[in-house]
Amino acid sequence: MYILHECVALSTSQNYIVEDVDPRWRLIVSKLITAEDLENNHYLEILGDVLEQIDLPVNYCPYCGVHLDNNETVEVSYTHRDYSKG
Ligand SMILES: [Zn+2]
Repeated sequence: MYILHECVALSTSQNYIVEDVDPRWRLIVSKLITAEDLENNHYLEILGDVLEQIDLPVNYCPYCGVHLDNNETVEVSYTHRDYSKG
């Protein structure tokens, strides 16, 4: 079970802030596969799938500034997922 931060700046399905089970608020930003990506990379198959994704803990929404509760002191870190190589 998770909760999404509702924000007009994060109104697309590929960019969002989620409270996960930790609980820890995390900003997820994704780059989706474009037609040009499909042409240039034979590992890619589906237009609109996630190509790359950044996932990092946040204490505030960087767009609307709202404080996100239940986040303890969080180490600065991020996860980068690269799906471009299959
Ligand atoms: Zn926000």
